[in-house]
Amino acid sequence: MKKTTKVNQRKNKFYVTTPIYYINDVPHIGHAYSTIAADTLARYYRRKLGKDNVLFVTGTDENSQKTINAAELAGQGTEEYTELTAEKWQNIFNTLDITYNRFIRTTEDDHKKTVQDILQKVYDNGDIYKGVYEGLYCVGHEAFMKEEDLVDGLCPDHKKAPEHIKEENWFFKLSKYQERLKHYILDNPDFIQPQSRRNEVLSFIETKGLEDFSISRETQEWGIRLPFDDSQVAYVWFDALLNYVTAAGYGTDKFSKWWPADLHIVGKDIIKFHCIYWPAMLWSAGLELPHQVFAHGFFTNNGEKISKSLGNAIDPIALVQKYGNDALRYYLLREITFGSDGDFSLQRFNEVYNSDLANNLGNLVSRLATMLIKYNNAQYNEVKVKPRYSYEDDIVKLKFHSCLAELFSWLDSLNGAIEENKPWELFKTDPQKTVEVLSGIACELLLIAQYLEPFLPEASKKIQAVFSNGTVVNAGVLFPKFE
Ligand SMILES: [Zn+2]
Repeated sequence: MKKTTKVNQRKNKFYVTTPIYYINDVPHIGHAYSTIAADTLARYYRRKLGKDNVLFVTGTDENSQKTINAAELAGQGTEEYTELTAEKWQNIFNTLDITYNRFIRTTEDDHKKTVQDILQKVYDNGDIYKGVYEGLYCVGHEAFMKEEDLVDGLCPDHKKAPEHIKEENWFFKLSKYQERLKHYILDNPDFIQPQSRRNEVLSFIETKGLEDFSISRETQEWGIRLPFDDSQVAYVWFDALLNYVTAAGYGTDKFSKWWPADLHIVGKDIIKFHCIYWPAMLWSAGLELPHQVFAHGFFTNNGEKISKSLGNAIDPIALVQKYGNDALRYYLLREITFGSDGDFSLQRFNEVYNSDLANNLGNLVSRLATMLIKYNNAQYNEVKVKPRYSYEDDIVKLKFHSCLAELFSWLDSLNGAIEENKPWELFKTDPQKTVEVLSGIACELLLIAQYLEPFLPEASKKIQAVFSNGTVVNAGVLFPKFE
């Protein structure tokens, strides 16, 4: 019998996560992208299910070796460093108007409890054993590397020679879950999306097979101690991934409301951990799997790979300071198909901003308001309008670009209706018809504004303040044009 999972939400709740970000990273557009996508869905589901039924979690990964190195470099104690830096991340997400319900830090007490409790369960279940790990370890990757992956003895991504490490560690029996996982993915087509990533994971399982992985380090001081061996700390995945469970209230009565998560949004570089390690870890701990893992693509900057050496990282804060949050959200979600790679170009950003936001949407709002003020004493008739596009089908499938394309072509047609009816001429012969036409357009615009709320929260709010309960106020300029 074939089981099918429903897309996302099964219960009347929605729990969405972003990856937790390495605390030592400089926040860039990729972080903003995952987080804005999750924020868009959180806003959509809050409208649909009520705000108490949505949980949106983001946060920082603080227990790795990278944290210790970064703190040393900054001349700070590790704890001091994580405090200051976590605050920086939160400030950035606040500036981006990200409506997270919890910003989780893996150094928090409840997370430490979760990690120890789950590790104990997995241990009791016979899935953890002691072995010797010997290999080439890249700190940048937080992973062991194979000789064949190196270029001139260096990690090709981090341009550093990996360290040779030999230590006695604890291992997780990932291999035990290989067949179960393969069948689960085959039986649940929505579990990994988009399709290309699902194929990638399946082919990984089939060609490479699942190898047990090390879950602890003895040489690292900073981190969460293993409950069954306090000489070692939990190694990254059995710490970081469990944040999703901690944030759902693991160990409290809230947990059954939120778990399993409805959606993990991740970058395509971490699907192996989210689609292979994570399900096996959850099964071993006796927990249900999330309904879906959705991996988005990466950006280039003007067609070039973004890298530290090129110094071409894109700062989301600089963009929103000039153009506003809605503009950044619009570009990222409209220009790039979610799930595919995309290009970021400042010139294109500016073009799209001017044509879609300043002209199409912004002009429509201000000219419509101006005409209603002039021709009908700042009043409009509240009429029932039919949606010309049902965007729910697309938004639940994370087709953000289709949603925005459709809603903006609907706006085009409203602009077209003004051009066709020429209210400034019509008013001279038929004032009543003029008011009818303009009212119809205002009510459709209001409906679009509601649909746009998850995508463009600021503009949506402004439009709903301009046209409200049959009364119109001056709209001002929603999106000032930039050369
Ligand atoms: Zn590396």
